Amino acid sequence: MTRILSRRGLLLTGAGIGAVTGLGVSRAAAQAPEAPCRLAVSAGINAGTYRFHIGDIRTTIISDGTIAGNIRIYARDAEQAELDAVLGAAHLSQSQFPLQLNAMLLEQDNRRILIDPGANLAMGPNGGRLISRLADLGLAPGDIEAIFITHTHPDHVGNLRNQDGTVAFPKAGVYVPEPDWQFFYINEPDLSHMPMPRDFQERFIRNIKISLEAVAGNVLRYQPGREVLPGIMTVPAHGHTPGMSALLIASGGDQLMVTADLAYHPLLNIDQGWMPGVDIDGPAARQTRNRLFDRAAANNLLLFGFHFPFPGLGCLYRTGSGYRWLPQAWDFTG
Ligand SMILES: [Zn+2]
Repeated sequence: MTRILSRRGLLLTGAGIGAVTGLGVSRAAAQAPEAPCRLAVSAGINAGTYRFHIGDIRTTIISDGTIAGNIRIYARDAEQAELDAVLGAAHLSQSQFPLQLNAMLLEQDNRRILIDPGANLAMGPNGGRLISRLADLGLAPGDIEAIFITHTHPDHVGNLRNQDGTVAFPKAGVYVPEPDWQFFYINEPDLSHMPMPRDFQERFIRNIKISLEAVAGNVLRYQPGREVLPGIMTVPAHGHTPGMSALLIASGGDQLMVTADLAYHPLLNIDQGWMPGVDIDGPAARQTRNRLFDRAAANNLLLFGFHFPFPGLGCLYRTGSGYRWLPQAWDFTG
């Protein structure tokens, strides 16, 4: 069924076009329907897993669920008129902008490694699906040998503990970047730069501390820049947090880069180049992002984004003024 824009809608859209001349979004804004085209999903049936291979490494993206937050958390420096145009054209909410929680499972020679297991309920009620989705794959928490953490924000470490406070993965060594361990766990972090209320910041810190406390006996601290596990090279990516690390996973001539939170969503932080509001060191985060995105573009690397639309895979290329994201299409042949 074709939707017809009302006269009022056309006038509002027309006003939007004037506000964003030169941003390359006016055509999309002019053609966007008044409401998104979607229907209700069937509860409990969609799988939330996607499997492929990096050389000999069987790799599965597992959705822990979703989170949502105010757009200023994810796009600090965007002009309001540009936000209105870009998000309006995509029918994305500015008060509850949606992000995914994409965990990654690596399996090789009977070893199983999780990368950034996800939030559990640390950031809202729509996380916490990882354990049941591992069970769907025939795996129990005790089957996980190692867990790799890119940075210690609660949406990445919440699943280290169960809701009752016990360790979620009892046999796993947990690799944590040393600068994050010091900043968030050993010390009392100052997060006053974050565009959230004080009580949110306090919950944020508390969720980090209780998650790391649960695994403190199994933590293996690393300095980004080394091969920590065979085939997993850590790449310094600080700026979002003091110790954030991207990962380069390599096997049999294949490569994939885990981008951690260099970008929250391709629409915001790749195609538009806006900076996340929670970056603790904005200039360093921008420098890191450009360095790694340039490397990815030059080498045509497959990228993985923890918060990108599931399953978070794609590549990017350089444009005259920035970058453009190309999502990887689903492949049912494997
Ligand atoms: Zn995150």
